[in-house]
Amino acid sequence: MEAIPATERQFSSQTVGRLRLGHGRFLIPDMNRAATPLLAATLRSFDIDAHVLPTYKGLDLGRKFTSGKECFPCLVTLGDLLCFIEEERKRLGQAFNAGRYVFFMPETEGPCRFGMYNRFQRIVLDSFPELRALRITAATNTDGYSPEGIFDAEHVRDSRKASFLAMVTGDVMERFIWRVRPYEKAPGQTDALAGQALRRLTGVLEQHGAADPLNHVLRELDEILAEGQAIIDPRVAPKPRIGIVGEIFLRMHQDSNQELIRVLERYGAEVVNASMGEWLNYVSYDGLRQARKKLRLGLKLFRPAQVKSAIQEILSFGISLLYQERIQKQVFKRAQRRIGIAADHPIGQMEKILKQSGVFSFDIPTEACLSIPGILHCARDGYNGVVNVYPFTCMPSTTTSAVVRPLMHEWGFPYLDTPYDGSCQPNREAAIRTFMYQAGQHLARHGRGC
Ligand code: SF4
Repeated sequence: MEAIPATERQFSSQTVGRLRLGHGRFLIPDMNRAATPLLAATLRSFDIDAHVLPTYKGLDLGRKFTSGKECFPCLVTLGDLLCFIEEERKRLGQAFNAGRYVFFMPETEGPCRFGMYNRFQRIVLDSFPELRALRITAATNTDGYSPEGIFDAEHVRDSRKASFLAMVTGDVMERFIWRVRPYEKAPGQTDALAGQALRRLTGVLEQHGAADPLNHVLRELDEILAEGQAIIDPRVAPKPRIGIVGEIFLRMHQDSNQELIRVLERYGAEVVNASMGEWLNYVSYDGLRQARKKLRLGLKLFRPAQVKSAIQEILSFGISLLYQERIQKQVFKRAQRRIGIAADHPIGQMEKILKQSGVFSFDIPTEACLSIPGILHCARDGYNGVVNVYPFTCMPSTTTSAVVRPLMHEWGFPYLDTPYDGSCQPNREAAIRTFMYQAGQHLARHGRGC
C-alpha cells in the first residue's frame, strides 16, 4: 500500500466516531487472551460478525506510521489493523472492499490520550486512498461504553450485559491460571487446560450469549475449576504473592508486556493482576460521581434542565454499577468455592483507601485512581510485592510511580516500575530477579495472605 504525503492527507470525521456497524465485519483489537475472544464470541451470538485481530505481527507497520510520541497501545493496535488489512487484501485480491470492515477503538474523555487513538488511526487510514471507506467505531466512557448507536437497538441492552459477563469470565479464567500455574504438578498442565477451557467457554457464549448466558457460563466454569483443582500440587509451599497494577492495555497484553507474568513466575511468584471488570466498574462509578456533582451544581444554580439530565445520568450509571458489581461478585464467588482466587474490591472501597491515605484524589480521573489504592492495598493486606506496568511515557502510571515509589521505599515494601515500549531492556530481567529476591525476603519475614 502506498501512503499519500502527510501534507495532502484529509481527515474524515464521517468514518470515525460512534458509527453504526450494519453488516460490516467488526474488528476487535486483541487486548487480553481470555476476555477478548470471549467478548467476540458473545457478540457473534447476536449475529454480529465479530473477529479478534491477530496481534503483534504488525509492530513494524505500527512503528512506520507513528512518530514515537504516541502511546504504545495506539501503535500496537494500529499495527494489528494495518497488518490484518494487508493480509485481507492479499487474500481477497480484487474482491477486497474496505467498506466491509469496522474497526472498534473505544475512547475515554480526558485527561489522557486514549481519547485520541481513534482520531489518529483515522488520519493514518486516510493516508491510503483505498482505506478511506474502512470505518472506526467508538464506544466512550461518558456513557459507560454503551453500544447504543453501534449495534441494532434491540441488541443494545442484552449485548451490553452479556459482554460484561464475558469480561468477568475472562478475569476469573486468568486469576485461575495465575493461581494454579505456580503450583502445577507437571509443567504445561495449566496452559493446556486453560487453552481447552477458553475454547469451551467461547462455545458456550457463542451458543447462549444472546439468551441469558449466566447459568450456562457458571456451569462450565465449575467444571473447568474442578479440573484445575486437581492440577495443584499441595506439597508446593506458598510462594511470594505479587500484585500487578498499571495501565490496562499493557497489564493485559502479554506480547506488549513481554510475558511479564511468566517471567515473574519463573523467579518464584504467584501473581494477581488487576482485572478488566475493575476498570469497567470504575467507569460507571466515576460517571455516577460526575453526575452527582452536576446535580449539586444544577440545584445550587437553579438550572432545571441540568438537574433533570443529572438525575437521568445518576440512574443510568447507578443501575449499571449495581448490576456490574452484582454479576462480578456472583461469578467470583462461584469460582472461589472451588479455588482461592483473589476477589476485586468494590470501587467505593478503593476510593475510601485513597481518601484515607491522603496521597491522591479520585477527583483526578484516570487509572492512577485505581493503581494507587491497589498498591496501598497490596502493601497492607498480605502481598509480598507489587509491580506497576505501563507504556513508556504513560501519564497516569508515571503519576502513580511518582506518588507511590517514595512511600513504598519508606514502608520497606518491594515495588517495581516496568515501563514498556516494544524494545528489549537488557537490565529488565535482572531488575525482576532482584525484586523477586526482595519479595521472597518479605514473605519470610511477614508471611502472606491466603
Ligand atoms: S493511560 Fe497512558 S497509555 Fe493509555 S492513553 Fe493515557 S497516557 Fe496513553
